Amino acid sequence: MLRRTKILATLGPATDKPGVLEGLFKAGIDVVRMNFSHGSAQDHLDRAEAVRAMSKKTGRRVGILADLQGPKIRIARFKDTKVYLNEGQDFALDINFDPMAGDNTQVGITYEPLALEVKPGSRLLLDDGRIVLDVVNVENMRVNCTVAVGGDLSNNKGINLLGGGLSAAALTDKDKEDIKTIGIMQCDYVAISFPRCAEDLNEARRLLVAEGCYAGIVSKVERAEAIVPEVMDEIILASDAVMVARGDLGVEIGDANLPAVQKLLIKRTRELNRVAITATQMMESMIENPIPTRAEVFDVANAIYDGTDVIMLSAETASGKHPIRAVEAMHRVCVEAEKQRSVRESDHRINIQFERDDEAIAMSAMYMANHTKIKGIVSLTESGSTALWMSRISSAIPIFAMSSHESTLGKVTLYRGVFPVYFKIESTQDHAEVNRSVVAELRKWNKAKDGDKYIITKGDLNGVKGGTNGLKVIVIGQGLTP
Ligand code: PEP
Repeated sequence: MLRRTKILATLGPATDKPGVLEGLFKAGIDVVRMNFSHGSAQDHLDRAEAVRAMSKKTGRRVGILADLQGPKIRIARFKDTKVYLNEGQDFALDINFDPMAGDNTQVGITYEPLALEVKPGSRLLLDDGRIVLDVVNVENMRVNCTVAVGGDLSNNKGINLLGGGLSAAALTDKDKEDIKTIGIMQCDYVAISFPRCAEDLNEARRLLVAEGCYAGIVSKVERAEAIVPEVMDEIILASDAVMVARGDLGVEIGDANLPAVQKLLIKRTRELNRVAITATQMMESMIENPIPTRAEVFDVANAIYDGTDVIMLSAETASGKHPIRAVEAMHRVCVEAEKQRSVRESDHRINIQFERDDEAIAMSAMYMANHTKIKGIVSLTESGSTALWMSRISSAIPIFAMSSHESTLGKVTLYRGVFPVYFKIESTQDHAEVNRSVVAELRKWNKAKDGDKYIITKGDLNGVKGGTNGLKVIVIGQGLTP
């Protein structure tokens, strides 16, 4: 059975080992993530090349997503690598303190405005919330705190402000440098960390275009400010895909608020015809163990019931002991979860008046497919938009996005239920010939046999984006089809 939910796997040292990337392809990854928070530019360029070579070898187009580090605010370093903080003790964060000489009373920080943006009573969460500091006062850019939750604290750990509100711009100087590498690498998506508003995403898009990169933009929702309703809509609309970045978001809004926010964010993202990614700790225990916990199995399945297009693996594949098994585990949970009736039924945009004929055709194709015996849908697509609209409808019917554009094939790798197929229409072909070529392609991939009914949507064969104006029903082996 084809799996509809897409698996996004982070690459890293564990996937550089011989045979692992091929194993991930066999296990069914759809997209890889290059995490620019770790590794050198050359590491990312080498990995992108390896992925492209493997796509060529296996005939499976796997997308590439570059994830920018963004303004992760961090403490500096300790003279002895780490310290132990006791509950109730004093501890200070100081921009003017030697960044290499932290001890268990004070440490340097990387973010100058911190002292201006916190006040007595503010709560700071360090190392993803494992250490909690309450701000007592600020003296000369030194933030004096009391330790509310203690423990080990080591070099360069992240700092979040509970409730959000730190003003750091989404794109740092490092991100701007990395965008140049991404211009060389060329990829299908670029993820922007900690966006505050649409303009952060627009700026990233402009900088990427200036480097000749037309990748889709993924906004990582991980700031408390980004889930205020008006801001949330603005961010979703400025993005091609939205990631529920549960790690940092959970630190800013509190873990107990995450499940409701995940459901809301996925729902709104789909309503606005964008792609939803659910990320972080989905199979966390598999960093060490060969099987997931029951709770992780439920987490993956519940994200699918929430409507996510994509589920992401982070350290599980990048540095874990069982990267291939983690993908296999996700795959088997997806396949079972997708059998549930609720995952196949849809009321997407049911009360909406469509302004575009191509969107109306996409919706009509899905309505027909869900209500008659259709084996699959073929969208002959220039930009991938028709396939995107189709994939917003919950369904069990596969959608084959056929295109000659590499960038389009890369984009659809994230769309739930959409499978990329390279397909070129020759200028001499008429509609009947194109239909025959489509059927030959489906047969080549064992996706069609005599008697199967397929829907094909296409335009006037002139290569124009937004030109879908036709829906054709064909029966394999009957009429003019081979
Ligand atoms: C997250 O915070 O959940 C996330 C995906 O971001 P990163 O892994 O880059 O910290």
